[in-house]
Amino acid sequence: MTGTGGARTKYLLDESEMPTTWYNVIPDLPEAPPPPLHPGTREPIGPDDLAPLFPQALIAQEVTGDRYVDIPGEVLDVYRLWRPSPLYRARRLEKALGTPARIYYKYEGVSPVGSHKPNTAVPQAFYNAEEGVTRLTTETGAGQWGSALAFACATFGLECEVWQVRASYDQKPYRKLMMETFGATVHPSPSELTDSGRAVLTVDPGSTGSLGIAISEAVEMAAADPEARYALGSVLNHVLLHQTIIGEEALKQFELAGDTPDVVVGCTGGGSNFGGLVFPFLREKLAGRMSPVLRAVEPAACPSLTRGRYAYDFGDTAGLTPLLKMHTLGHDFIPDPIHAGGLRYHGMSPLLSHIYELGLIEAEAVQQKECFAAGVRFARTEGIIPAPEPTHALAACIQEALRCKESGEEKVILTALCGHAHLDLPAYDAYLSGKMSDNELPDAALAASLGALP
Ligand SMILES: *Cc1c(COP(=O)(O)O)cnc(C)c1O
Repeated sequence: MTGTGGARTKYLLDESEMPTTWYNVIPDLPEAPPPPLHPGTREPIGPDDLAPLFPQALIAQEVTGDRYVDIPGEVLDVYRLWRPSPLYRARRLEKALGTPARIYYKYEGVSPVGSHKPNTAVPQAFYNAEEGVTRLTTETGAGQWGSALAFACATFGLECEVWQVRASYDQKPYRKLMMETFGATVHPSPSELTDSGRAVLTVDPGSTGSLGIAISEAVEMAAADPEARYALGSVLNHVLLHQTIIGEEALKQFELAGDTPDVVVGCTGGGSNFGGLVFPFLREKLAGRMSPVLRAVEPAACPSLTRGRYAYDFGDTAGLTPLLKMHTLGHDFIPDPIHAGGLRYHGMSPLLSHIYELGLIEAEAVQQKECFAAGVRFARTEGIIPAPEPTHALAACIQEALRCKESGEEKVILTALCGHAHLDLPAYDAYLSGKMSDNELPDAALAASLGALP
């Protein structure tokens, strides 16, 4: 028996081949993105405005004009626990679909918490520790980001305090236990510990929370303690910068494969796994070395790119953050409780929003049942149960592969498999037992939250 006759399914890099710089796409764009504004003066914010929340090194990365940023040796050492991550050719999925397309996926589920989030949690904890910060606060929706920051803080000896969206706190006890195992303190949000939390609970004592509310709580606590800073797991430029290690590795792996992607798809919540995979490919595209279509996929229940407005809005519910120009559904928009908790943010990364406005990426929205059907199909062929979020990318990938089957085109598709579902299996239970529903987001609901834009 010869099996596949030597055809490769895995493209692995040696540790010594791991990239040592992150890539900043901004200097390569035809136009710079609009700056964040101070919520009071409506003037562009300066570094001093951010100093209570972030360490200087991250503020500098947020606005840097350098094309490449060196990854500190201490961060590379931690990355080596799981990086370089594998690139796979999905031969069994291709065969099951009967498509002539070649499908590849870059798998970030090999990290300590099962997603791409530690790629930025580790450098964020490192820079804070280096500047003498002793405590980080943050929010978490699905629990992935809180787990990643808890792990990173343990690595560099920082305390970690997490506000976990109430709905997820109640439904995902294992994420909370993971954060606690790494040494973090976890509060359900809204909580009685902050003004922002108490304000929500006064109006709605049974509130199941939202990412926007949890961000307000974590920001409020960090701003009140000079030893503490706040950490955000997506949306901001420095976060997308750190995630570009995904795309830089994937480019090297495509060289090993002797192939070039025609289509790159990824799911977008705040935009970090998508930006991280796609920006190095966008650099190659802008330089004329390849021409892949770059496609963001979002949930139909929280469609910031496809149905949101490109406008200045707050990053949180209480209006404590700077105003960010982004595709937004409105800062008090609360999406349906879909299972892809990591995709329920009201806004999109300002950098990615700008790149979308420039016409350099495409976007589509998908309903969750189609996504879970894709997730199950992937699990049964490739053996990995995808986190609910990247099932969106897989659904779009399968759509593309089936179009290739119709047309006979041999396209090369790359998809971001940014995490596994080992702690999200109740979502698969809901799908498999027929309890999952698709919901249309009514125009009226959207108009109401967009009407409240600052
Ligand atoms: C957090 C998360 C997301 C959404 O965040 P992005 O910044 O858009 O990547 C998607 N998938 C997984 C597995 C996550 O943990």
